[in-house]
Amino acid sequence: MDIRVGLGHDTHRLEEGRPLILGGVTITHSHGLAGHSDGDIVLHALTDAILGAIGAGDIGDLYPDTDALWKGANSRLFLDGAMARMQGQGFEVINADIIIHAQNPKLGPSKDLIKNQVASFLGVDPQRVNIKAKTGEKVGHIGRMEAMACQAVVLLQKDFGGRDHDA
Ligand code: MG
Repeated sequence: MDIRVGLGHDTHRLEEGRPLILGGVTITHSHGLAGHSDGDIVLHALTDAILGAIGAGDIGDLYPDTDALWKGANSRLFLDGAMARMQGQGFEVINADIIIHAQNPKLGPSKDLIKNQVASFLGVDPQRVNIKAKTGEKVGHIGRMEAMACQAVVLLQKDFGGRDHDA
């Protein structure tokens, strides 16, 4: 059996008036994440975790923020691109564990929504996705509400049930 682990991380600045989108879920808040795309740190970290697991570089290699094509992009596009590569190599997701670092708003009430949305994007049962939320203890860039960050780890396995994959 071929099993791979991948790690992803992302940080985005907070900006007043931007929509706050975490794991594809829009969360009511005064500030959102600035960025060339929609700033969804959860999907960016997950995309990097998957790309890492299959040895395919990082999100910036595939979707450079100098490319006008990705301006304001829905980050689902990036995740779908990474998943297509993953599937092309014959892998499927076993599980994903995700930490969102945010001082505000309190993400407790949104964790299940984010989990269910991310699970549906990954095509797995929600019990295979875990969302943790941490504050910045009011210190550092997270605690001062200058930014949010996300870490994601994924485990993949080669799907031996279907076609022959040697990629
Ligand atoms: Mg990003």
